[in-house]
Amino acid sequence: ALKISGIRKTFGHGDKMVEVLKRIDIDVAPGEFLILVGPSGCGKSTLLNIIAGLEEPTEGAIRIGDRNVVGVAPAQRDIAMVFQSYALYPTMSVAENIGFALEMRKVPKADRDKRINEVASMLQITHLLDRRPAQLSGGQRQRVAMGRALARQPQLFLFDEPLSNLDAKLRVEMRAEIKRLHQVSGITSVYVTHDQIEAMTLGSRIAVMKDGVLQQLGTPDDIYSRPANTYVAGFIGSPT
Ligand code: ATP
Ligand code: MG
Repeated sequence: ALKISGIRKTFGHGDKMVEVLKRIDIDVAPGEFLILVGPSGCGKSTLLNIIAGLEEPTEGAIRIGDRNVVGVAPAQRDIAMVFQSYALYPTMSVAENIGFALEMRKVPKADRDKRINEVASMLQITHLLDRRPAQLSGGQRQRVAMGRALARQPQLFLFDEPLSNLDAKLRVEMRAEIKRLHQVSGITSVYVTHDQIEAMTLGSRIAVMKDGVLQQLGTPDDIYSRPANTYVAGFIGSPT
């Protein structure tokens, strides 16, 4: 469903040029939940932004479904992105927040309402639909942000450390929620995290990056039991 081929990214020019991604190749199977881990500054967000179309690669191709989307506008890529800072529209109700993207696409009100209700019941926030974001807890807001992303039925879900602003208890709860949502929706997902437990429990495969280079791509068991090098071994073995 997602094919990342020979992606290079440089920033700057001349002797100030830095190569942030050095030929990254990853095939993500339909329905897969791929985790992207690695130290701060290794290029995780840059890679997600390139997949989303918020940055263009210096070289390489991104295929979503059967088309190369390099050069295609973000809104035309059939992707939904969830960041750590979820910006809900403060003056809109939860239902309006979830339905907004559908309204922009001129989806008729009856269909919109149906979809809002489906998504709300998937996320167990039906009782919150009439509230404003200010009347919600952090976890409830995060659910609404996910509902908004889910409402559009994207081909691909991109998460950039969506739980890192939540407290430990909520993180555990939301981790289970994301897992369940993925099982229910089957949407191919790429998920960036610093959290090893998230990586090991959510991922069908884990991509370990360092300095813009993919160090290993494997199942949680591969990464844990058969690390490709000392960096991977240290990363999984050490506390974050
Ligand atoms: P973190 O875990 O801290 O979020 P990351 O792996 O997501 O880190 P990126 O945000 O992808 O890292 O950044 C990778 C490198 O690219 C960093 O060294 C960063 O300073 C650099 N970088 C990112 N965006 C730009 C930009 N627009 N111009 C120049 N350098 C950039
Ligand atoms: Mg980042």
